[in-house]
Formats: sequence, structure tokens, C-alpha cells
Amino acid sequence: MSVPPPPRSPDPARDPRLHHDALGGRSVFIAPRRADRPSDLATGMQAAAGRPAGCVFCAGNEHLTPPFRLRSPANPLLPWQARIIPNRFPFVEDWGGAATAAGRRAPVRPAHGVHDVVIEAATHEASILAIDAAAWRDVWGMCHQRLAALATRSDLAWGTIFKNSGALAGASLEHVHSQLVALDFVPPDVEAELAALHGTPALFAHLLEWAAAQNCIVAEAGGLVALVPPAPRQPLEAWIVTDTPEDHFHATAPARVEALADLTRLVVTRLQAVLPGAAYNWWLHQAPFATDSRCRWHWHLEILPRLASFAGFELATGCHVSTASPQESARLLRGG
Ligand SMILES: [Zn+2]
Ligand SMILES: [Zn+2]
Repeated sequence: MSVPPPPRSPDPARDPRLHHDALGGRSVFIAPRRADRPSDLATGMQAAAGRPAGCVFCAGNEHLTPPFRLRSPANPLLPWQARIIPNRFPFVEDWGGAATAAGRRAPVRPAHGVHDVVIEAATHEASILAIDAAAWRDVWGMCHQRLAALATRSDLAWGTIFKNSGALAGASLEHVHSQLVALDFVPPDVEAELAALHGTPALFAHLLEWAAAQNCIVAEAGGLVALVPPAPRQPLEAWIVTDTPEDHFHATAPARVEALADLTRLVVTRLQAVLPGAAYNWWLHQAPFATDSRCRWHWHLEILPRLASFAGFELATGCHVSTASPQESARLLRGG
């Protein structure tokens, strides 16, 4: 059970706020403190010869970050291999149960939620591929445990894990890490997937059938399917989808957590083989914490290479322009 913090008053000038644009249906987090974030990637501080001085995520520099929420292994007598810590520059603050009297579409309100950093290695590594397979499974196990604790809180509505790998994908620090966020509302892209499922309950089953028929399956393991979706936004985009309906990653069986770890390694291995050094993002899309039994959701991880920055047309329309067909991307990701 995750315990909310004791109440304090928001600082309207410095604490993160959530601004809502009713015309576009957009939500924007205004988080002034994030301007103070350190960055080794933006400044090129990451020396070719390895670890930048004073990397806050490296073992030995724990005093530079807030106390951990979870560590792996859990035994404090053993050196840690991975840790989850509070983000020092969050775009949501944990205001506990007394959070948000304002409605979610209020033009401005305090941004309530939880924003953690998942430090995925104790040594200074730039890629998940430098982490051994067992330790990488433990990282996902720790995220599973953390999200499961947050999902018990009635003041939080939805949670995710996301990764920015490489400066083109929005990373500011080189040391391998991802982020874990829980919000007090369901964000627009997840609402859109829910609305699509309400219209077509078998939508995920159709997706899996389409991928099989179109030779777009990359790999399968432990109840998960890695596939290229029908409208990939960039070459080599891949999704890892449960092969049967399941609302929540945080409630899945440990074997599926391990399968997710293994498939993320596989997809990133293939991506780096085709495009060495490519930046990428991934994010978890799962159902809201409160289950909607009308939906046959399949939780999934979307992995998006960042080969080109998004341009005017994408921003104007929400439509992407890419150069590779799903079949071609799937063939490359299979190593064919
Ligand atoms: Zn480091
Ligand atoms: Zn999705």
C-alpha cells in the first residue's frame, strides 16, 4: 500500500500546474522547476571515455538524489542494481488525497500525481543492452510492484512507465533510466483507445489477427506478441501486446513481466542492429486503475524509434508521415 504524503500548500509560482485547452482538448503540465534539470546529453558532457563526472544516478552518488522508494535486490545488505526514486523535477506533485477540488477540465489546477525515476543500472550504462538479462527482468519486476502499490490509491486514476533513450527522444541524462508516472485523470490518448474499444470491443483481437495475416509479427514470448502495428509512425515502430485480454500490467503474472523484459531487450537489440545508436521512446498503455468491464483491453508497450523529429504537418494534423511499410519494418525487426 502506497501512503500519500502529509499535506502542504501548493506554491503557485513553482509547483507544477495542469493547464487545459478546451478547444484542442489538450492538457499541458507547466512545471517551472524542470528548467533547473541537469543535462549531460544536451551539453555533450557524456565523455566518449565513459562516465561523466558527478552523474547523479551512478552508485556512490546516492546522496545527490532523494531516498529510494524501491531497490533491487530488496536486501539492503547487497549492493543495489536498480532503484526507483522520486523525480527531483516532477511535472506532477503528490498532494495526497486532498488533491484536486477543481474539475479535470478546469483551465488551471495543481498537477497532482506521482513522478518517479527508475534508475536501471548502478554502473554508468547508456543502453539497456548493457544490463544482464536477469537484472533487466528485476527492473521490470520492481516497476510492476511500484505501479501495483499506486493503483490501490483512490486519488490516482491511471499510471504508466515510459522511457526516453537518447537526446532525440527527449532524454536529458545518459545514465540508463526510465520514468514512472501516476495521474489523477486518464490522459487523452488513453481515453481515445478506450473510446475505440467501446466502439469495437474486439479491436485488439483484430489487431493480432491483422499482424499474423500481414506477416507483421516480430516475436512471441510468454503470452505477449511483439508486432509492427498497421500505421507505424516511424520505421521500426513496434508494440508488445498481451495475446489475451488483460487490463493492467501491474496485475499481470510474474512470468508475463519477465516476458516483457525479454521482448523489450529483443526489440531494442534488433533496432540497434538495423540502426546503431537510434534514439527511441517507449510507453506503457494500460487501462485506468478503476476497471471498466465494458472494455476488452490488452495492456501494451509502444516502442517508437525517433529517427526524425516531428514536423509541422504532424503538429498541425496529428497525422504522421513515414517511409517504411509495416511489413518491411517487421522483416527488419525479425532480423530477416
Ligand atoms: Zn551514471
Ligand atoms: Zn496504446
